[in-house]
Amino acid sequence: MNAAPLSETLRQRIATTGPISVAEYMAACNAAYYGRGDVFGVGGDFVTAPEISQTFGELIGLWCAVTWQAMGAPYPFRLVECGPGRGTLMKDLLRATARVSGFHAAADIHLVETSPGLRAIQAHALEDHHTTWHDSFASVPNGPLIVVANEFLDALPVRQFERIAAGWGERMIGLNESGDFIFTAQPCQAAPVPIPQAAEAEPGAVFEISEAAADWVRTVSERIARHGGAALIADYGHKTQALGDTVQAVRRHSFHPVLSSPGEADLTAHVDFAAVAQTAGKAGARVFGPLEQGVWLRRLGIQMRLTQLSTGKSAAVARDIGAGVRRLIEPDAMGLLFKVIALAHPSLASLEGFAQDAAHDHS
Ligand code: SAH
Repeated sequence: MNAAPLSETLRQRIATTGPISVAEYMAACNAAYYGRGDVFGVGGDFVTAPEISQTFGELIGLWCAVTWQAMGAPYPFRLVECGPGRGTLMKDLLRATARVSGFHAAADIHLVETSPGLRAIQAHALEDHHTTWHDSFASVPNGPLIVVANEFLDALPVRQFERIAAGWGERMIGLNESGDFIFTAQPCQAAPVPIPQAAEAEPGAVFEISEAAADWVRTVSERIARHGGAALIADYGHKTQALGDTVQAVRRHSFHPVLSSPGEADLTAHVDFAAVAQTAGKAGARVFGPLEQGVWLRRLGIQMRLTQLSTGKSAAVARDIGAGVRRLIEPDAMGLLFKVIALAHPSLASLEGFAQDAAHDHS
């Protein structure tokens, strides 16, 4: 039996109960989109860092091992990945740490993933390891932990507030007379958070907040503050809060209109790293970064890993390996727009790659 396409379900919902928020739209679209299974890679819609170069997951693996040692090498600890995609990052992480004494024996692996299709792909990629899946981070068992999340927060829904004549309105998605999805602004008393540059905002200016991202950051940070450990988040976004509509849809490696085919394109928004840092700090975590991904990967030794990997390879293979690494670190590729931020128990005074940026920027 085929379920009705998401566009029909949403049309009926809006016709019956009225316009829905951008967050409701994004949540419904992404649940349907990721539910389809393998959407990644050259043959899919978009390519992520672990799919571009194995060095990404390997260096994150070494970061996890060093962090685990700094935590006092707890046995066991929860090694958690949120939004693991194809399982490539975790697979590379585990291969790179295989010889770190005691790390694999202590690592109790938990994956937070809502898509059944992606869970199956992850199970295959990680078939040599015992793994447990969760619908949300909250059900990961207590205890010291290390959390990794790459391009996870950008997929969580955002609400948008728009400057209108009468103050601020919430951007909603409604229907026009032909039944097409359209944006409308619904006046609201006040936005739930202070809006930066609110006084200078021109009509039509947009400010985004992600309550889902804030909830996740708060829960992870509280867990870290209580049980010890750290989280590493890598994603694209901005360090300073600013006005701007950043919701975008990507399909087959190109931008796609956000409202044109719900559930058939990847919907993401820039991560607001200032909000992440603030929420984590309030919840009791020490914050490291955010730092540009290119800078962080260089500090972790990506160039040295590139040399090792290329040695003894044919010129063509070495060129491909080099091209992947450059894509991760070059400022005009992913090196600048992508950032990393770490949240840690206050007893961890420094973390690999962040040493020079230790907590003083955000304390
Ligand atoms: N980290 C992977 C995949 C990034 S895409 C990589 O770098 O390649 C986003 C991932 O988050 C997918 O695995 C998607 O299914 C998952 N995801 C999206 N929304 C989610 C949610 N609300 N809860 C759990 N997983 C979610």
